[in-house]
Amino acid sequence: DYGLSEADPEVSTIIDKEKNRQFRSLELIASENFTSRAVMEAVGSCLTNKYSEGLPGKRYYGGNEYIDELEILCQKRALAAFNMDGKEWGVNVQPLSGSPANFEVYTAILSPHDRIMGLDLPHGGHLSHGFMTAKRRVSGTSIYFESMPYRLDESTGLVDYDMLEKTATLFRPKLIIAGASAYPRDFDYPRMRKIADAVGAFLMMDMAHISGLVSASVVANPFEYCDIVTTTTHKSLRGPRGGMIFFKKDPVLGVDLESAINNAVFPGLQGGPHNHTIGGLAVSLKHAQSPEFKAYQNKVVSNCRALASRLMELGYKLVSGGSDNHLVLVDLRPNYSCEQGIDGARVEKILDMASITLNKNSVPGDISALVPGGIRIGSPAMTTRGFGENEFISVADFIHEGVQITLDAKKSVTGSKLQDFAKFVTSPSFPLIDRVRD
Ligand code: PLP
Repeated sequence: DYGLSEADPEVSTIIDKEKNRQFRSLELIASENFTSRAVMEAVGSCLTNKYSEGLPGKRYYGGNEYIDELEILCQKRALAAFNMDGKEWGVNVQPLSGSPANFEVYTAILSPHDRIMGLDLPHGGHLSHGFMTAKRRVSGTSIYFESMPYRLDESTGLVDYDMLEKTATLFRPKLIIAGASAYPRDFDYPRMRKIADAVGAFLMMDMAHISGLVSASVVANPFEYCDIVTTTTHKSLRGPRGGMIFFKKDPVLGVDLESAINNAVFPGLQGGPHNHTIGGLAVSLKHAQSPEFKAYQNKVVSNCRALASRLMELGYKLVSGGSDNHLVLVDLRPNYSCEQGIDGARVEKILDMASITLNKNSVPGDISALVPGGIRIGSPAMTTRGFGENEFISVADFIHEGVQITLDAKKSVTGSKLQDFAKFVTSPSFPLIDRVRD
């Protein structure tokens, strides 16, 4: 039995190159983070060898005494990490990732073609909340359910709750989804609860991006108002890639959420759980209860605020005028134009060349997802790497420098490798590929 570098030098070399890329770049993608060595040890362990369809104590395979112990430990830690232990809530830790977790909820509580409302993707929502275009039902959620997205008020950059209320009253959804992939503010859960109650809908929060912040109580708590809370585990929570579904134990709208959700996960949509992931998740959830983790989450938010302030000092417009959480959304359009060679896609490419990794993002009012007018910048990963507010101020300056280099490229200033690359990227022949945000 050989180690990786001997058994497969090709894969081993690719991993080394990726490790090097992660090490040398400024990682600013809001949905990414660096998990701990302890989590990676658990994920790379013998737990990957075991089949365990079912739940602890009710498995379809033998030999699960230790897997049962692990999954029960992980469930307990999950509830404790969100201060839900001893409350009437349960959790399923088997979802393979965030999108499957969401679809499992829909399968549990909806019938095909039931109506749902989530935040529109171009306004910050996630694909799995029901994205569709005028031409195409893009996500499985919009193929199997009838989706009527709610949107931001474009003048404030905040969720337009009045419009959500009006539309919900007419559309009468069975499920309203809070949560986003690119929204720098807290959701107004009490308001959303009121709207859901008025139309007889379930209220679910997809806290994927902010679950670390929720766990450390540095943003509003969705558990107080929602019936179901889903999350990924690999973003601000800093665990392995995976998903979780939290649910109220008491029936809601006549539905026993516990059995409906557990059955939707298995046998509804999944087979054997990924026990190595559940092992890694248990490790990260232990960490999530430590004082260091709370301090880390506070830093994620203060670093993001420092980044936001500096960007505004430099003249950038931020959607909603700032940030309450781990990300900022910069609207490049008021200051720059595509004719100048500045849009989200080109800025992403140029900064990538300088080992600054962030992503282009549509901003309210954008016409093209291919060439969107914004960029999304997140603070979790570099905070894990030890950055403080001063470093994030420098990050804002570097981003500004990238934008200036792009402007110069249009004015034919070249010389450095980066300037030459900027010239290439801003030329009309540069191929742009669409990438749907995660
Ligand atoms: N929900 C939200 C709000 C997300 O931002 C994402 C991904 O970034 C997901 C769900 C989907 O998670 P995954 O990529 O693990 O399927």
